[in-house]
Amino acid sequence: MSTSAPAFDVAAVREDFPILARTLHEHPLAYLDSAATAQRPRAALDAEIAFLESSNSAVHRGAHTLAADATDAFESAREVVAGFVGAAPEQLAWTSGATAGLNLAAYAIGNASAGRGGRAASRFRLFAGDEILLTEAEHHANLIPWQELAARTGARLRHIPVREDGTLDMDAAARLVSDRTRVVAFAHVSNVLGIVNPVAELVELARMVGATTVLDACQSAPHLRLDLPALGVDLAVFSGHKLFGPYGVGALYGRTDVLEALPPFLTGGSMITTVTLNEAEYLDPPQRFEAGTQPVSQAVGLAAAVEYLGRIGHDAIAAHEASLALRMRDGLRGIEGVRLLGDAADAERVALWSFDVDGVHAHDVGQFLDSRGVAVRVGHHCAQPLHRRFGLTATVRASAALYTTEDEVDRMLEAVSGVREFFG
Ligand code: PLP
Repeated sequence: MSTSAPAFDVAAVREDFPILARTLHEHPLAYLDSAATAQRPRAALDAEIAFLESSNSAVHRGAHTLAADATDAFESAREVVAGFVGAAPEQLAWTSGATAGLNLAAYAIGNASAGRGGRAASRFRLFAGDEILLTEAEHHANLIPWQELAARTGARLRHIPVREDGTLDMDAAARLVSDRTRVVAFAHVSNVLGIVNPVAELVELARMVGATTVLDACQSAPHLRLDLPALGVDLAVFSGHKLFGPYGVGALYGRTDVLEALPPFLTGGSMITTVTLNEAEYLDPPQRFEAGTQPVSQAVGLAAAVEYLGRIGHDAIAAHEASLALRMRDGLRGIEGVRLLGDAADAERVALWSFDVDGVHAHDVGQFLDSRGVAVRVGHHCAQPLHRRFGLTATVRASAALYTTEDEVDRMLEAVSGVREFFG
């Protein structure tokens, strides 16, 4: 097998993303906010419009041809997106995003705890005094649904600490896991630190005590080759708009036995077989988790986005992004007054760095960069506890994707170098 990185032509890739041609304050746009929302390739935009123009219709119902076309497109999209994460179509339920997927997981476990779902669901049951193990680095979307679940069940929240270098304290994790641990939920990649967490080790700890694992793969799916069944997690979520696809779509992956045993969260149309005035029988997964009208054109757009990534090639994208990650790190390290978060030696990571500029508020840094055409994220990035852990309330976050160039990174670095002088 060849060890050299496959050919990657970033200029050609950029041609596929119409928005990248625009300017910002008379500068070419340098979009370094892909971790918030990634830009969409024309293939994804076109696929969604083509669907709306030719096949738009409600799926899974209706005898007309359009309904059959829409159903085919929708179910083919499921097959493509499931395949993208190494899963079978029946292991992937559409959601409206990662937040919806995490709430689905937490509420479904809550329903099991309330005795719903029969004997099969009892494996998820939480009792007062049971524990839900999270990390200190979670996005609010992977904190608050569990806080709500804890409040409803009397379970206790525990948190794996983050070390000064941004890695998880796995010794503490091993101490925190006990036979009271029923759920272990964590991000694959932190949206603030960019570090890839040790999934296999965390899954192993959870398995030893029979806890359900929930992976937030929002920030890994756009960058890493994912094989969710091989990772061994019970449930996982990701979001379409971070994966070069539309807003309003995401997915919940589940191991077959897990989805089969899990009670639904939302109920209503599209997830039932027989309904009487007093009770209902539910469809098998994944439809059991898809109550209401589905995000059909969005699923079609997302499938086109991941097919596009497949054509570019994971290895080529990974090699390009790895070199951007180093360029960003080396440049930011060299700027006086810049404090990088999560600068762990040898940590596997994506091209995402959050940093503080001494004496200048993150919002001011963001506006200064914007005036030079550089779009970055500022604030707490929906991770207030993690910022508090580092003694900060806000940081600047620069995040790259396959279409990011070295020149854009250099423009960001040059602008950051001028921040302290500008704000005096
Ligand atoms: N989890 C992580 C790690 C994220 O970065 C985000 C988005 O910023 C989410 C969850 C929530 O995703 P969404 O807003 O698409 O539901």
